Amino acid sequence: MYRITLIPGDGIGPEIATATKKVIEATGVPIEWEVKKAGEDVFEKQGTPLPEDVIESIRENKVAIKGPVTTPVGKGFRSVNVALRQSLDLYCCLRPCKSYPGARTRFEGIDLVIIRENTEDLYAGIEYQKGSEDTRGLIEFIKNTTGKKIRDDSGISIKPISVYGTERIVRFAFEYARNNGRKKVTAVHKANIMKHTDGLFLEVARDVADHFPDIAFEDRIVDNMCMQLVQKPELYDVLVLPNLYGDIVSDLVAGLIGGLGLAPGANIGDGCAVFEPTHGSAPKYKGLNKTNPMAMMLSGVMMLRYIGESGAADRLERAIAGVIQEGRHVTYDMKPTPDDPTAATTSQVADAIIEKLKK
Ligand code: NAD
Repeated sequence: MYRITLIPGDGIGPEIATATKKVIEATGVPIEWEVKKAGEDVFEKQGTPLPEDVIESIRENKVAIKGPVTTPVGKGFRSVNVALRQSLDLYCCLRPCKSYPGARTRFEGIDLVIIRENTEDLYAGIEYQKGSEDTRGLIEFIKNTTGKKIRDDSGISIKPISVYGTERIVRFAFEYARNNGRKKVTAVHKANIMKHTDGLFLEVARDVADHFPDIAFEDRIVDNMCMQLVQKPELYDVLVLPNLYGDIVSDLVAGLIGGLGLAPGANIGDGCAVFEPTHGSAPKYKGLNKTNPMAMMLSGVMMLRYIGESGAADRLERAIAGVIQEGRHVTYDMKPTPDDPTAATTSQVADAIIEKLKK
């Protein structure tokens, strides 16, 4: 019996989490779920969106699956997702992006893996508010040490990128490539402009690459990478990126495979892993039983593989792929138009997948 933490999240999270739990249970893998709440509703009751017992549960069980959680823009609590990744040191965000035949997309045959650094960069959460005393001090310091004048009415975010953080994420990328029959790792950066952060990332990536002579290595500047992914995605295999570029490029690649409804992910550290879809909590669809649960279900497939249940993972992935290929029991985002009256509900998608699993 596996004991796994289940965090339904908020917005559409609870609906897609229920659907996901059902299909995972239908594989027959024995799981005892420890359900833990995080997000907006908990914030109202407990004054924190991420109670300590959620983190404790993941630490203890080592594996969690999570629905999306809302992060209010510019106010209120900081991102639960960022806090979770930092407190558990889940330094790797792994996002395989694969086309499934039948998915409505302009591209075919996409099979890319995005490996995003999860703890550093502009997402480290070191920010200086416009007009504060610290900010004024920082502006003064920068003027004194560089001669550069930052406007007094500026807010400032700090972008730390370390040798330690880069080394472990690039190593993860190469090990992933080696263990999963992948041929090439591409490091993505803007080293031509940010020499001391992205430049460091690239330099460390090159050093790590030297230890993996069996895997090809190359690098691309992030803007060029975006264009190339749209023009010739077949040239790429595993991409490793600092936090911010990784976030943006993940969504771009999700677009190549048919949208956020199909893009799974995992946040992995040395001790534990949290599996979650790439998409957010889509608040406008909350409670409508309408959105696509497949990204979270495919995150569940990744989770089953992670715990060593590859057979069940393969069966679940085949069942999901079968439902996509038939195109009948799929949600609105996978139909020709969003108002298609034949669109399935979230729970109908789960039922169709369970039917396929029985065959
Ligand atoms: P979003 O991913 O929630 O939604 C953007 C749009 O994508 C939706 O309006 C919808 O049209 C579509 N979409 C998303 N998921 C879908 C699904 N499963 N099925 C069908 N369509 C889907 O992005 P957003 O609107 O920028 O963010 C909403 C909230 O989610 C924000 O508070 C954001 O911070 C948060 N967020 C959380 C996570 C996470 O928990 N890991 C990730 C991203 C965003």
